[in-house]
Amino acid sequence: MSDPVVRTRFAPSPTGYLHIGGLRTALYAYLFARQKGGRFILRIEDTDLERYVPGAVDIILRTMKDAGLLYDEGPDVGGDYGPYIQSERKDTYLKYAKQLVDSGGAYYCFCTKQRLKAMYEGGATKYDKACLRLGRAEAERRAAAGEPYVIRQNIPETGTSAYHDLVFGHIAVDNKELEDNVLIKSDGMPTYNFANVVDDHLMAVNYVIRGVEYLSSTPKYNLLYRGLGWETPQYMHLQPIMRDAAHKLSKRYGDASYEDFVARGFLPAAIVNYIALLGWSPKDDREKFTLDELVRRFSVEGLSKSPSIFDENKLRWLNAQYIKELPPEEFHARALPFYAGHAYLEGYDLKYLSGLLHGRAEVLSDVGPLTAFLTEFEGFDPALFVNEKWKTDPALAKAMLPRLIDLAKNTDPQAIGEALNAFAADNGYKKGQVLWVFRIAVTGAKNTPGGAAEMAILLGKTEACRRLEITLKRL
Ligand code: GLU
Repeated sequence: MSDPVVRTRFAPSPTGYLHIGGLRTALYAYLFARQKGGRFILRIEDTDLERYVPGAVDIILRTMKDAGLLYDEGPDVGGDYGPYIQSERKDTYLKYAKQLVDSGGAYYCFCTKQRLKAMYEGGATKYDKACLRLGRAEAERRAAAGEPYVIRQNIPETGTSAYHDLVFGHIAVDNKELEDNVLIKSDGMPTYNFANVVDDHLMAVNYVIRGVEYLSSTPKYNLLYRGLGWETPQYMHLQPIMRDAAHKLSKRYGDASYEDFVARGFLPAAIVNYIALLGWSPKDDREKFTLDELVRRFSVEGLSKSPSIFDENKLRWLNAQYIKELPPEEFHARALPFYAGHAYLEGYDLKYLSGLLHGRAEVLSDVGPLTAFLTEFEGFDPALFVNEKWKTDPALAKAMLPRLIDLAKNTDPQAIGEALNAFAADNGYKKGQVLWVFRIAVTGAKNTPGGAAEMAILLGKTEACRRLEITLKRL
């Protein structure tokens, strides 16, 4: 018999954003399915949500597409195992819970909130199985009489439950550590603990890839699978991504979501590439991978058993490489929305500007700081004229500037590079001296995204001359 088709899923809860850790889980589930020629499923888990977050599902769908993690089945693309939103499946779960009740794997619980509260306050660490002792007939009678109830999993009181995790190996938990969790709430909705099992089974998911916080609950889920006569899936649990040695990366503490990084000018391909390395490593030291390369290279053995630390500088470094590789038109198209945020750029030849910035921006939002000289010109420090290598200083600038102004007035900016060279030769200056003085005089900035001639072209003749005059007056 041939192996069944690999089916993985990403099962986010729509909380209003997709954080970097969630996206990484999605990525690994995607990579594994693609590598094995399998199917990758998106399922929205919204049964446990306290409140509805408008637009949250759209953010997830949009992010997955933007990041290139195309799913074969999901809420908006359909599939043979839908619906793919748990709240639309709410009639599915109760019958399986009742099946478990019939076989002794679950039971009705009528305990009131007050009783539970008193029990935990009295020092109990888990539910005391009080309602298990009611007996089936009595429980059925109370339920039929309309008394509110939940359905709880009936965990054996002795023994251990164990399974093999593909990342962590043998995992064993003493049954007495496990609580009889609620499977179906009093409103008839399933909890995550139950819905994930039922849906993974009904959606034929055979590889479950998710956060390590579920590692120790998984034996419990396996008891449910077995109680229902279902085959258990394989599991890969993933260590968290940390902000630093002590703190998880978390939106609650201001750590960015995928969309925040995109808004700051990181390219989707660079983000995906970087997060692939946060918890997985190839056998060699290579760091730059396209999504297709990741599909080929991904390996379960490369998954890390320890947490990874998010290093934004590393992401910047990788992003810079992706930016340099963009075709010029694409860089320009991606830079445009970032230019739009800076009113002072209006009127400049943005295409020309893109040519200057393309090799220098590490993130697209760098176009702001890299063009700041266009708006922060007046009032710069004349000490910028001091250059030890070229032996320039404000006095030399003052002496040179009247003739540079004449030259700029009478030269087409496109030809100014040559004109400045000729000026240096004719007047006994070094080329570097003239170029330094001219560039500082028109920009007022030590670092600019181009040399003297490029700055003259960018500014245009009128503005360049205006700036030269202002500078001369100040010296
Ligand atoms: N909805 C769960 C979460 O967002 C999914 C856990 C799982 O993948 O099973 O954490």
